[in-house]
Amino acid sequence: MSDALSNLIGALAGGSVRVVDLTQPLGESTPVIDLPPPFAPSPGVSMETISRYDEGGPAWYWNTLRFGEHTGTHFDAPVHWITGKDLADNTTDTIPVERFVGPACVIDVREQVAADADFLLTPGALEAWEREHGQIPACSWVLLCTGWSERESSEEFLNIAADGPHSPGFHVDTVRLLADARDVLGVGVETVGTDAGQAGGFDPPFPTHTIMQGSGKFGLASLCNLDQLPPTGALVVAAPLKVVGGSGSPLRVLALAPA
Ligand code: MN
Repeated sequence: MSDALSNLIGALAGGSVRVVDLTQPLGESTPVIDLPPPFAPSPGVSMETISRYDEGGPAWYWNTLRFGEHTGTHFDAPVHWITGKDLADNTTDTIPVERFVGPACVIDVREQVAADADFLLTPGALEAWEREHGQIPACSWVLLCTGWSERESSEEFLNIAADGPHSPGFHVDTVRLLADARDVLGVGVETVGTDAGQAGGFDPPFPTHTIMQGSGKFGLASLCNLDQLPPTGALVVAAPLKVVGGSGSPLRVLALAPA
């Protein structure tokens, strides 16, 4: 066996590396993104029992699940956005699996978001983080720790006002920098989608989806427990279901982090 893997197995067994669950529960109360008409809404989660130790299956329990691909803690594939529709290997079943695993760069902006729900991470703020923690390496996951996952009710989580949703995200120039100069795997957020709440009015609209998916990069939405990760040094595994032609899927996102 390789030294690296045997060291990792030993570290997991010995507790010096722990597994952190970055995933929200997926169920009927999972909040889903709200799109204004005429856009088609995504359904919430529904669960129907096939059998539960009854006449339909005396010794077994199983359910039928129904949900939109972009529900709860989920993965955005490049094909999700029109800018990524013609890229190679752009669906959940064709993305090379190596691209689901990468180091995490965790940017903690909880203080700024507590003061401003519409906070956007600017290139200047990103570069300030890099001066302290080193340049974001290629093929890493950039995770925005906003504290948003602590909002328990759907109302607080979606935070919709008369002028639309208010939630934090990335400035368009930051997304360009991450996709082009840093060549990341993708970005992860605690909010319902990778774009800020007000991003429908940005130029371009929804810049994180437009640029990330258009560059063959990924998105992770509705993450939690990012506050349990160090700024650098954790490894994230985020592999969507291998849905044929899928634009994304709910997934279990795990981080290996120093104890
Ligand atoms: Mn999505």
